Amino acid sequence: MDTGVDFLLQTMLGEKSMEKKVCNISKKCGGCQYQNMIYKEQLKKKQKQVEKLLGSFCKVYPIVGMEYPYYYRNKVHAVFQREKNGNIISGVYQAGTHKVVKVDDCLIEDQLADKIIVSIRNLLKSFKIKVYDEDTRYGLLRHVLIRVGKKSGQVMVVLVVGTPIFPSKNNFVKALTKLHPEISTIVLNVNNQKTSMVLGEKENVIYGKGFIEDTLCEHVFRISSKSFYQINVSQTERLYQKAIELANLKGKERVIDAYCGIGTIGIIASEKAGEVIGVELNKDAVKDAIVNAKRNQIKNIRFYENDAGKFMVGMAKQGEKADVVIMDPPRAGSDEAFLSSVLTLAPKRIVYISCNPETQARDLKYLTKHGYKPEGVYPYDLFPWTSHVETVTLLQKVNS
Ligand code: SAH
Repeated sequence: MDTGVDFLLQTMLGEKSMEKKVCNISKKCGGCQYQNMIYKEQLKKKQKQVEKLLGSFCKVYPIVGMEYPYYYRNKVHAVFQREKNGNIISGVYQAGTHKVVKVDDCLIEDQLADKIIVSIRNLLKSFKIKVYDEDTRYGLLRHVLIRVGKKSGQVMVVLVVGTPIFPSKNNFVKALTKLHPEISTIVLNVNNQKTSMVLGEKENVIYGKGFIEDTLCEHVFRISSKSFYQINVSQTERLYQKAIELANLKGKERVIDAYCGIGTIGIIASEKAGEVIGVELNKDAVKDAIVNAKRNQIKNIRFYENDAGKFMVGMAKQGEKADVVIMDPPRAGSDEAFLSSVLTLAPKRIVYISCNPETQARDLKYLTKHGYKPEGVYPYDLFPWTSHVETVTLLQKVNS
């Protein structure tokens, strides 16, 4: 099938996307599975993958790639480790191990974030701060997480520590913000558990407001350390614009934004809808979502903290209806509780955003068996150099 992808690539991709930067640690790091391919080939491969998994349902449109597929990650994580010779390194876990690969700069991470991480590493010595040792559970600094508002320029630094006592905390903050005045807020997160999770429960704001704001599709969003926020903002704007176009709202509809995170999609859609109901499991994200609605002066949206499946079952039991369901589940996809309740709510349209075409295929199979017809799959490249691909699919209720 001619997808027109070559034509689209020629028209969309700037010359800059064709230059290939080389990463010297890609084999050890393992984060970028498509490092050995030029960008155009990566897009073709993703297009083929989506066609293979979803092409039997309906037309797959040409993938939308980035003009300049570098430094796009607005969230950067580094783990800290002391090497046998005493040197402190920071970087990522080597794929499938607990060995740290040193990363000073990465081709897909925000460049300022990488610089801040190196500065923190350099400050450790003068402040005599020890790196946390996972085996002995001694030491202080475990991870650093940085979130950057690509549009706002605001920067959040999260210092993940093994114990809540951070000696000369104030001087450390002073030294770091002097080196990087761009930093808007610093959060101390305590994680003393033996876990592969980066962030612990407890948090203390030690500089600034404890959150950053960023603009997405002309709306301002507050993002806190634990809330989900898409890591590639320019591509997300394209994806969400398409999702909202597919929802085809005329101003009166009741819309459900399921797996809504900090409320992004629902808030962007709310101006075109009668009413929006958002549901999300993460309590910090729901708090952000409520603030975000106020911040954008949106009055026709409500958020619920709940498992999306349970929430939908509850709505179905109460005989509630919806005109449009927009859903954006995590990689595992949705579940039968959710999907079967969607059938009871009987929306005319379902707009299904997915970061995993395999689970989307499974869920589309269920929905097609039960009265919905997929009308088009639109792939977006949110994760250049990796094998991940994002899709948005429109489903229409048959006979509506
Ligand atoms: N639509 C949002 C978030 C998408 S990511 C955005 O674009 O920013 C998926 C979201 O689903 C995450 O915020 C995650 O916390 C949430 N989530 C995961 N499992 C869930 C469940 N069972 N019920 C509700 N939300 C869930």
